[in-house]
Amino acid sequence: MMRIAIIGDGIAARSLLYNLSLLKSEVIEVHQFSSSKISSCSRNSTAVVAKRATQKGISELGNLIVDAYNEFESFLENFSGAGVDTTSEYIIGKSLESYQKKIKPRYAAVYEEESGDELIELCINHKQKFFKEKAYLIEPDIFLDSLKSIYEKKLSVKQVEDKIIGQDNLTLQGGKSTYGSFDNIIYCMGSIPQFVVEEKSQPVAGSFWQVNQENEKSFSLNCDGHHFMQKKNCSLFGSTSNANSVSMNQDEVEKIISQLSPLVQQEYLIAEGEFKTGIRYKGKKRMPKIGEIGPNTFCIANLYKNGWSLAFLAAKKISRQLKV
Ligand SMILES: Cc1cc2nc3c(=O)[nH]c(=O)nc-3n(C[C@H](O)[C@H](O)[C@H](O)COP(=O)(O)OP(=O)(O)OC[C@H]3O[C@@H](n4cnc5c(N)ncnc54)[C@H](O)[C@@H]3O)c2cc1C
Repeated sequence: MMRIAIIGDGIAARSLLYNLSLLKSEVIEVHQFSSSKISSCSRNSTAVVAKRATQKGISELGNLIVDAYNEFESFLENFSGAGVDTTSEYIIGKSLESYQKKIKPRYAAVYEEESGDELIELCINHKQKFFKEKAYLIEPDIFLDSLKSIYEKKLSVKQVEDKIIGQDNLTLQGGKSTYGSFDNIIYCMGSIPQFVVEEKSQPVAGSFWQVNQENEKSFSLNCDGHHFMQKKNCSLFGSTSNANSVSMNQDEVEKIISQLSPLVQQEYLIAEGEFKTGIRYKGKKRMPKIGEIGPNTFCIANLYKNGWSLAFLAAKKISRQLKV
């Protein structure tokens, strides 16, 4: 039996567990550590997977983003669970201009502009130029639970509620007890474990306003730095301009809604809901940290703004390295 410790229970950990269940799972015994006192970014995420005009061959990060997107698409081919909707993301207004200026030199984006009829059918009040791209809208709780119910059928996972605070060889130090000895330890705790490697992850908060309601159509709209998303079971409003603030307040929500209101039909702008704030971690040059960080010790961290696709690329890489 290969004894594996996984620390964390967000998308990084669950996509890894899913990948492990596809291996010779009968020879793997997983001990999964997580702490309900440390909130998971994945459960407080707008959770869209889209290429956002990124192309390969321009930058290292761009290459990874495209590979991760492709990996997510191939995962979906065999995924029989729930919580993902295939739809489109629209970029309009000033966002369209700044999108072109900012991203074009870096990723050599290609734009298409179409007439606005399609937008009117969805929610927009008048014709607009827009850029449209395929997007996957994820409902985090439904998707994460669905993933778990699939891998649990094949893989033995012992769950331990404890905060991990240290590691000595292949033994873990928790707040309540010590746990060992493992053949492999994999950290999926959002940030890099500083008790293993002295490398900092930068926390960046992101907030949005969520209204739980059933919607017939789902789509994502990026307008003047604001995001408006309609998923099957909820609608979300968020802002890229306040991405570094700790949390949105009522005033900010009202501001976003009033800025969107000339465009978006009023029935969609319902202001009764809840604030959600997640902490995502950023590495140097926005690069994720995926791989070996010590003897038989691995980490998937700093997934920052592309966690829902990078997690699947990382999971494949690490599960290959384990040599099950
Ligand atoms: C507002 C917002 C919008 C976003 N939008 C998108 C988007 O549209 N598309 C996209 O791809 N990404 C998006 N992201 C980023 C994405 O959500 C994250 O990159 C991703 O969720 C990170 O997943 P994770 O599993 O690495 O971390 P987490 O989900 O944070 O999981 C970490 C886990 O580790 C546990 N943990 C931490 N420390 C310890 C410890 N010491 N001991 C035990 N357990 C521990 C936590 O309890 C948790 O279970 C967004 C993020 C935010 C905040």
